[in-house]
Amino acid sequence: MESNQISSMSKASRCEANEPMPSESQSAYLGLGSNLNDREACLYRAVTMLSNAGARCVKASSIYESEPFGYSDQPAFLNAVIKVKTFLSVQALLITVKEVERRMGRISGPRWGPRLIDIDILLYDDVTLATEELTVPHPGLRHRVFVLLPLHEIAPRVNIDKDLSVEKALESLDTSQGIKKYASWRYGDVR
Ligand code: ADP
Ligand code: MG
Repeated sequence: MESNQISSMSKASRCEANEPMPSESQSAYLGLGSNLNDREACLYRAVTMLSNAGARCVKASSIYESEPFGYSDQPAFLNAVIKVKTFLSVQALLITVKEVERRMGRISGPRWGPRLIDIDILLYDDVTLATEELTVPHPGLRHRVFVLLPLHEIAPRVNIDKDLSVEKALESLDTSQGIKKYASWRYGDVR
C-alpha cells in the first residue's frame, strides 16, 4: 500500500540523514506549487503523502493562481502554503519532500520549469542553514509574492529572516500583478 511504503521509506530517510530526531514536534512552513494535470488534486495529494511520511498539515492557506516564474511559456501555477508539525529533522524533511515529489511523478526538468508538484521548505522552526543541498529559510522566499501572500494568510507575524517579517517583505513587492486567489482550501482538517 502506498501510504505504508511512504512511511517506511521516510523512516529510512531519517537514518540516511544521520541527524538526531527532534525530541519535540517542530513547526515548518512548506510552499506547494503545481502547474500540470489536475493542479488542485496534486496539491492535496502531496499533503496526504507528506502527512503519511511524518509531516502533518495543521494549517493551510487559500490556493492562489500565479503566472509562471522563470519560464513564461508554461501553464499557470497553483500555489499554497501549509504549516506542518513534524518530528523529522530539517534534513530528513528535505529527503521526505523529494521522495514525495519523485513518487508523484515529478521528473527532473529545468529549474522553474513545469511540474506536477514542487515542495519547498520555506521555514523550519527558527533554523537558519545554508548548505549545497538545503538553504533555510528558503532563499527565494523574500522575493516571491506567490509564496509570501499565502504565507502571510496563515502566519502574518512570522519572521522570514532575522528582523524581517512576512508583512515587511510584502511591503516592498508589487502584489497586484500576476497572482489571484483561486479557491479556498477544501481538504483535510485544517483551519
Ligand atoms: P525550485 O524549487 O527553486 O524551483 P527545485 O525544486 O528544482 O527548484 O529545487 C532544486 C534544489 O533546491 C533541490 O534539489 C534542493 O536540494 C534544493 N533546496 C535548497 N534549499 C531548499 C529548500 N529550502 N527547500 C527545498 N529545496 C531546497
Ligand atoms: Mg523546489
